[in-house]
Amino acid sequence: MAEMVLEVTGVVKRFGGFTALDGVDFAVRPGERVGLIGPNGSGKSTLVNCIAGTLRNEEGRVRFEGRDIHAYPAHRRIRLGLARSFQIPKPFGSMSVLDNLCVPLLYAAREGARRGQVADEANHILRQVGLHEKAHAMSGGLTQVDMRKLELARAMAAKPKLLMSDEAMAGLSTSEVDDILELLMGLKAQGVAVIMIEHVMRAVMKFSERIAVLVAGRKIADGDPQTVVGNAEVVKAYLGE
Ligand code: ADP
Ligand code: MG
Repeated sequence: MAEMVLEVTGVVKRFGGFTALDGVDFAVRPGERVGLIGPNGSGKSTLVNCIAGTLRNEEGRVRFEGRDIHAYPAHRRIRLGLARSFQIPKPFGSMSVLDNLCVPLLYAAREGARRGQVADEANHILRQVGLHEKAHAMSGGLTQVDMRKLELARAMAAKPKLLMSDEAMAGLSTSEVDDILELLMGLKAQGVAVIMIEHVMRAVMKFSERIAVLVAGRKIADGDPQTVVGNAEVVKAYLGE
């Protein structure tokens, strides 16, 4: 078990008297592609927030590469290699696509990195996500799918070992979903583990080597995709939504 990139054990998160996460265990191997699914309000984004450090869990542990990161603020977790993309993209609209990427790159850069190197790296990532032709466009004018790509590019700029993608495909067309899917699948070659939170089941099934299911703050299933989607409890949770 020492080989996990992420290990969440017994995590409890409460909002006032409401328990959003009720003792969640969840682990991810290096380079693994995991789908995290569950009905709206089941606690998926809350779990991502507890892992990213934007929320603090009241109980339980989050370990990253074997290290307990409970005391680490979000920015330190990013530097360790934990990245996330937001459900609602938050680029700076009045900055160019390229500059939007240079900001996290400069932030992640080791001391002494030169601006030229940062721009080269930004262009490399933009090519990877298919935004290189729009490098000098203003981010505020991007289409929805390009906005999602920029959001993922920004997460990749932190050179993560684990990337959490929270509903990056919501509201996109079939071909746009395939674009994002291909992008996320490609990260495996770079050794990046990905947790994909998604409602588009076709995408989840294609993407995931393993699927975990949250319902009302509890993990009710975790295993190989075919077995999990055939699980009676999982079927009931979705039909009952
Ligand atoms: P999901 O991402 O699976 O749709 P969330 O993690 O966003 O679910 O939310 C889980 C539950 O926690 C929901 O009932 C939601 O209303 C509640 N919740 C999430 N964030 C907060 C918050 N900051 N304050 C109070 N309740 C919250
Ligand atoms: Mg959510």
